Amino acid sequence: MMQVHDSTVEFDTDLFYIDTFAHGRKRSIGILIYREGGEAVVFDSGMPDSTSKILSSLDAFGIKKTSIRHLLLSHRHIDHAGAASTLLTHFPNALVRIHPFSAKHLAEPSKIYRGGRELFGDYAAPMSPVSADLIRGVLDGEDIHVGKEAVQAIYAPGHTSDHVVYYIPSRRTLYCGDAVGAYDTTRNRVYPTCMYPSFDYEKYKSTLCRILQLDLEALVFPHFGVVSGKCANQILEGSLSAYGELEEILKESAGEDDEMKITRRLMSAFRDATEIFPESVRERAAEYMARGFLAGSKMATTSS
Ligand SMILES: [Zn+2]
Repeated sequence: MMQVHDSTVEFDTDLFYIDTFAHGRKRSIGILIYREGGEAVVFDSGMPDSTSKILSSLDAFGIKKTSIRHLLLSHRHIDHAGAASTLLTHFPNALVRIHPFSAKHLAEPSKIYRGGRELFGDYAAPMSPVSADLIRGVLDGEDIHVGKEAVQAIYAPGHTSDHVVYYIPSRRTLYCGDAVGAYDTTRNRVYPTCMYPSFDYEKYKSTLCRILQLDLEALVFPHFGVVSGKCANQILEGSLSAYGELEEILKESAGEDDEMKITRRLMSAFRDATEIFPESVRERAAEYMARGFLAGSKMATTSS
């Protein structure tokens, strides 16, 4: 049976989903916590100003800040890495883990912050640097120990070149980051997350095929919610067909020279997908995704 959660909840024993109330809104950015044998790991950090919301949720669940050993980042975007530095000041025993490509950007976050401002405008609060001695790279296939269990890091490029997803084998649970899309709990649909300029369509497809090989019971989406049951693979396949719709728009636009016209056609496909953003950000988000798909699928044609 399919189960969906889209608010702060302990959705399974010692698996916690927290709505960070990003941009002052419900159901925009969520994070995952996994606790095992007196230790815990936090997956992603939310926006730079999400710290107090996350800390109060941890307290409400009785998760000790001293028990947190790793802050496992999926990728460098501000809505995932933004609060890493401030959270670490409250987690005295934790390291932050990110793909080695992006370690330097956590230590000197001006590039992440600039990218965040471009998309989110004033909703992106300043991001502080993480002390270099607290940053460790995370490698494909690496096991990160939590109590007697482990979380497996899986390199998952496509949305960005530094994207990592995290699989908890004992729970058959995957923290998806933005690797396979954004999940809409009300429509039970997955939307593309093909943000300009980092999206690479071929890499996204290889990542999705790799993830489909996993034995999955639950998918955790930072945008937004947890879905569990036998439907996990169907939801992932829904991600592929969502991109198929974008391919159709490109095919219909064959022969069209005006790139702005094609971009506008693609943008219309993102109307529902941008509902997770504040209203003033939606148009820009749709444009970033349209341009991301256009550039990211071209990358594929020129390299094949
Ligand atoms: Zn992202």
